[in-house]
Amino acid sequence: EQLFGATRRNSQGINLNIASEWQPLQQALQAQLGRQWQAAPLFGGQRLAGSGQAVHCPWDRQRLVGTLQWADAAQVPAVMDGLAAAFPRWSATPVAERAALLERLADLLEAHRAELLALCCLEAGKTLQDGLDEVREAVDFCRYYAALARERLLRGELPGPTGERNELFYEGRGVFACISPWNFPLAIFLGQIAAALVAGNTVLAKPAEQASLIAMRAVELLLEAGLPPAVLALLPGDGATLGTAFCSDARLAGVCFTGSTETARLINRQLADKPGPLAVLIAETGGQNAMIVDSTALPEQVVKDAVQSAFTSAGQRCSALRVLYVQEDIAPRVLELLAGAMAELRVGPPDRRATDVGPLIDGEARATLLAHIDRLKGEGRLIAETPLPSGLDGHFVAPVAFAIEGIHALEREHFGPVLHVVRYAAGELEQVVAAINATGYGLTLGVHSRNDDTVRRIERLARVGNLYVNRNQIGAVVGVQPFGGLGLSGTGPKAGGPNYLLRFVSERCTATNT
Ligand code: GLU
Repeated sequence: EQLFGATRRNSQGINLNIASEWQPLQQALQAQLGRQWQAAPLFGGQRLAGSGQAVHCPWDRQRLVGTLQWADAAQVPAVMDGLAAAFPRWSATPVAERAALLERLADLLEAHRAELLALCCLEAGKTLQDGLDEVREAVDFCRYYAALARERLLRGELPGPTGERNELFYEGRGVFACISPWNFPLAIFLGQIAAALVAGNTVLAKPAEQASLIAMRAVELLLEAGLPPAVLALLPGDGATLGTAFCSDARLAGVCFTGSTETARLINRQLADKPGPLAVLIAETGGQNAMIVDSTALPEQVVKDAVQSAFTSAGQRCSALRVLYVQEDIAPRVLELLAGAMAELRVGPPDRRATDVGPLIDGEARATLLAHIDRLKGEGRLIAETPLPSGLDGHFVAPVAFAIEGIHALEREHFGPVLHVVRYAAGELEQVVAAINATGYGLTLGVHSRNDDTVRRIERLARVGNLYVNRNQIGAVVGVQPFGGLGLSGTGPKAGGPNYLLRFVSERCTATNT
């Protein structure tokens, strides 16, 4: 049974390997790659004052991508005043009008594909394929939430006794803060905002520090699409100080956050203590994602899917595979193929079509990951490593695989291209699932098995939000694979799913004696 949106279509991709599709894009892209961008706090159609920062490219450290003005926490109260004042009018705007705005934005995103792709590459270090997927996902979020709003946010009558009319309807909650991550600087940034806006909220958008230029362009396109400038504020800057200012503000009605579990807890505490309405938190956080491979699996398929899941986006996806559990019987073959596949991966500047793995986002991320890698190397656990070409001047880390005893050995999420491998014996499947559940995270899980009973047993036992069987475990598709985890991985509702918008609205019921 189709849950929702049987008639809606996701956006078309561009195949980088087909000359007639690649060449026009390449030309448009060349014109963008030499550009500089600027970002600044923005509200009511005005740029606010800020303190200046230079933005450097993560894969070419000498290269400047633009400049960025950081907002100051002292600016937050006036912004919250403005957003609260704009709320009644925006929430009274018909859903169809708000939905049409998102559709115009989707069209503008497609029209500016080359520029957005250049920004994803230069500011966030995304490969061309990742950048294209990113723009597509942003477009799909806009169109999906527009369609969802039209279908779900209607005023409707509920059956009741005669002589009475009972109606249920939805409206925005008030001022929503959207706090987005750098790893999906356009798709998650706009996905959160699109949902909050179409549901009738006014929005304070706080982009990740590392992805502010992209966020600024996205907001400019939103305004071009016709968003009233009083309905959205963009505050780039330091997450801790700005976040504390608006999460303690009495006028805040809700937060939509994607980032670490720790930060989600901090936000929750601040919301609990703040004056004003009880605020809702929608959090999408980290994962400790495993793939379970039993002896019936096809080793070639396993390796293809494991490599994609672990190393796409340089492992900087919260859905990425971190721990590969392989049944002993087929482990030698799987590991041999894995080493071969990893030797073939190309690490390098992400503006080249041939690059598979780009840089990490910044020097701090690289240093943290290298400390983990050095420790495992020191323990003699290395299984395979992709060669790192010389002459690179960026935050590169080559894909690497290590043997570990079990998922419990990882004290936290390692956000980058590091795959951990565990061998398990026949008969240990239930312990494996129990160990994965015991991490407390529950985002993605991959299973490779041709035994349907095994797959169903894992489906029953594993506490995860997204289970992927005999395929890779990243790249959830909007409206097709609603995405989000359980436990330490998030609160739900799932992004790109039929229930997402309902957490952004207040429900009201009117009973009338007729
Ligand atoms: N939705 C993305 C995926 O399925 C992951 C989102 C994230 O990393 O936050 O790959």
